[in-house]
Amino acid sequence: MRVELINTGTELVLGDTVNTNAAWLGQRLAGLGLAVARQTVVPDGAVIAEVLAEAAARADIVVVTGGLGPTNDDITREVTAQLLGLELQESAAVMEHLDAYFRQRGRTVNAATRRQAMVPEGGVVLPNRQGTAPGLYLAAGLGTGRAADCHFFLLPGPPRELKPMMEQEVEPLLCRLVPAAGTRVVRYLKTTGLGESDLVDRIQADLEARADQGLELGYCLGRGDVDVRLAGPAEVVEEAAEWVRQRLGPLVFSEDRRVLEEVVVDLLRERGQWVATAESCTGGLIACRITDVSGASAVLGRGWVTYSNEAKTAELGVPADLISLHGAVSAEVVQAMAEGARQMADADHGLAVTGIAGPTGGTEEKPVGTVFVGLASRGEPVCSAKLFFPGARDRFKLLTSQAALDMLRRRLLGVSLNEI
Ligand code: AMP
Ligand code: MG
Repeated sequence: MRVELINTGTELVLGDTVNTNAAWLGQRLAGLGLAVARQTVVPDGAVIAEVLAEAAARADIVVVTGGLGPTNDDITREVTAQLLGLELQESAAVMEHLDAYFRQRGRTVNAATRRQAMVPEGGVVLPNRQGTAPGLYLAAGLGTGRAADCHFFLLPGPPRELKPMMEQEVEPLLCRLVPAAGTRVVRYLKTTGLGESDLVDRIQADLEARADQGLELGYCLGRGDVDVRLAGPAEVVEEAAEWVRQRLGPLVFSEDRRVLEEVVVDLLRERGQWVATAESCTGGLIACRITDVSGASAVLGRGWVTYSNEAKTAELGVPADLISLHGAVSAEVVQAMAEGARQMADADHGLAVTGIAGPTGGTEEKPVGTVFVGLASRGEPVCSAKLFFPGARDRFKLLTSQAALDMLRRRLLGVSLNEI
């Protein structure tokens, strides 16, 4: 089945709104084994009719987002009906939904909104539980012309309306249209600690050999992590995933698309443990990433940004002579920072980083990109690792925060801190 996706909206082509629907729908469709063959983004207006006709001439399934709203430029419903030669009829059921929606808000349905109750004859209404504009499914066989061989799904633009509609209404319909959809799966194994090429080296050959069983392999480079994407028949994918798990061990940190900070917060919460952070070169990024996760208040009580030597001494109790003896960027100092933060916060774990982000400040012994990550955990000897991330400052900070969070993850799982 050939699937095409059309995203409508002037705001999308102007760049005022990022086309997140395309990415999200692409993933959901891939999960059903439906790779989108072509994506088209168009502004509001007559061009929607053009691209609809073009897509329908090539595809078996056309998914359209946007243009179902109440304003004049929302014309997706009308042009699709026109393309298929279908009359629009007011749906009593949709009118009832609109009435109830507005009544609840102390308002009445106006003429512009009423248009949303118009349904091309034979069309199936996809209820919208988050807003007013319902989606529409126009099955192949409705209407006349070449486009009539095509299935159309017309979906609302706002992501919070689109997503539940896709999951609850559209996907069950697609599973019926594409019988193989239910038996195909996509799995993402998120890894961190190995660059993409090293990762490929380790797993590519073996996984490629499974292509004749229908396994599709892909990689996606993320924020300091690399996703291994496995798609194909369920049992082939499960077997391949198990092999990757064995081969990569603790390098795999999530299989449900959670990012590293989410995994770390969840692990801390499960154990009822607290972490305190002491950051120099990352300027608070580690604490920031932890607090990006809902529920962070149960695991992070405090964090320090101790950029200067004086701050490291005054705030974390790092002895001044330790700094002058070894330098602020050293294993000794990062360990003292981690232990200091842990004790000051009375936390289970103290996580610290100190390094040279550059572009200035490097020496022969400690070039730009040198960084130490330290971890002090209650009842464990304090430990640290020396790492090297030469490159732009933002990349350096990101990779350093990633390495620190990963060190904590490994400690929480009880696996070796540096086995790769
Ligand atoms: P519409 O359904 O066309 O009236 O879209 C309403 C709003 O949904 C737009 O103003 C955008 O904020 C949002 N939106 C529409 N299309 C997209 C898209 N492809 N990706 C993300 N947001 C979108
Ligand atoms: Mg729009």
